[in-house]
Amino acid sequence: MNLLLLFDTDFQTATGVRLTGRRLEHVRDIHRLQVGDELRVGLLGGGQGTARLLLLERDALELEVNLNAPSPPKLPLTLILALPRPKVLNRVLASATSLGVARIILVNAWKVEKSYWKSPRMEEANLLHQCILGLEQARDTVLPDLQIRRLLRPFVEEELPALIQGTTPLIAHPGSGIPCPRGMTTPVTLAVGPEGGFLPQEVELFGRAGFQAVELGPRVLRVETALAALVSRID
Ligand code: SAH
Repeated sequence: MNLLLLFDTDFQTATGVRLTGRRLEHVRDIHRLQVGDELRVGLLGGGQGTARLLLLERDALELEVNLNAPSPPKLPLTLILALPRPKVLNRVLASATSLGVARIILVNAWKVEKSYWKSPRMEEANLLHQCILGLEQARDTVLPDLQIRRLLRPFVEEELPALIQGTTPLIAHPGSGIPCPRGMTTPVTLAVGPEGGFLPQEVELFGRAGFQAVELGPRVLRVETALAALVSRID
């Protein structure tokens, strides 16, 4: 955690915060801070700055907070992500958030197992928690806009045309033979496949919606590795 993320409900006064639970344990056991020490904090959806530790007890800590700096800008990138298996979903959500992806849309694909949609990891509280871990990692305070679309075809045919307006639409597909462009100057809409990959018919479906299939090279990468490599190329 490189930034301690605070919520409106943590504030007892305009600048006074009281924390328990995971964040208390982190400050005490991982950062090993002591009363008087400073740490970096941010307000979810707001600014960031520093806080001084005023009190540290077994079951609570108190901070005096000074939020005076903005958070880093988001990347102008919409990620359309075929739902990975639950354990991978957690990692990919946190890492997409820490990379600064502005919007994440989880979609179905042929090689997404139905059971993935019913996983407890799909509950809103978990999705939010993974995004928060990503924000804390990257010293950000603004959540990505996270959406879920269970049906791929209507999403691609009916919603995507409006969503991709003003962006370069790309679908990451190993074997496509077209190198992923570097240093894009336009916003990008990027589709990333499930662990088994997109079917050729799915690549065609995106293609009819205007998406160009691109690849990073001959190596087939894990979803989270591919995502990081794609983002750094595009940015
Ligand atoms: N067996 C699948 C691999 C899927 S990897 C196949 O051959 O298609 C999961 C997803 O990560 C892919 O659908 C793609 O979106 C992305 N990905 C992985 N490696 C990539 C590469 N070298 N170039 C572009 N995208 C890649």
